[in-house]
Amino acid sequence: MNDRDEYWMRRALANAACAERLGEVPVGAVVVIGDQCIAESYNTPIRSQEPTAHAEIQALKLAASRLGNYRLDDAELYVTLEPCMMCSGAMVHARIKRLIFGAHDPKTGVISSAAKLLDEPYLNHQIDYSGGILEDDCARQLKDFFKRRRLENQQKLKLKSSEFKQKKG
Ligand SMILES: [Zn+2]
Repeated sequence: MNDRDEYWMRRALANAACAERLGEVPVGAVVVIGDQCIAESYNTPIRSQEPTAHAEIQALKLAASRLGNYRLDDAELYVTLEPCMMCSGAMVHARIKRLIFGAHDPKTGVISSAAKLLDEPYLNHQIDYSGGILEDDCARQLKDFFKRRRLENQQKLKLKSSEFKQKKG
């Protein structure tokens, strides 16, 4: 890890916080070329009713439209959580140069956890990758979110059951 990676990962974390404020799972992504941020985005599948609205896909789309080219040869993509199958595929199609992710995702992360998709020999494009950048911060943001959501759901359930008891009584 270097200062540069840490700098851009902090920016991805700030994007993830935007998703969290909207009630979405907090994942944020930033596309960088050289020292310039080309695009940044966050997870919004619930809000946009769009299963592909992951942070990475949205940032890649935005970067491609800004550059007028779907091939993002010199791009580096920073994302707070290890990418899923769909996003990894999109990165290969976009021909990005490098992927940098924060927290590992043992369930659906396919870079170095559940699978190693980018290492598959059948791929016609190789992407360099580094994982675990600011891992503690990235993981904490997600853990806190899920913890809070569990508590909120428990409270809703409690409210419902007390309403039910009141009706019965
Ligand atoms: Zn994804």
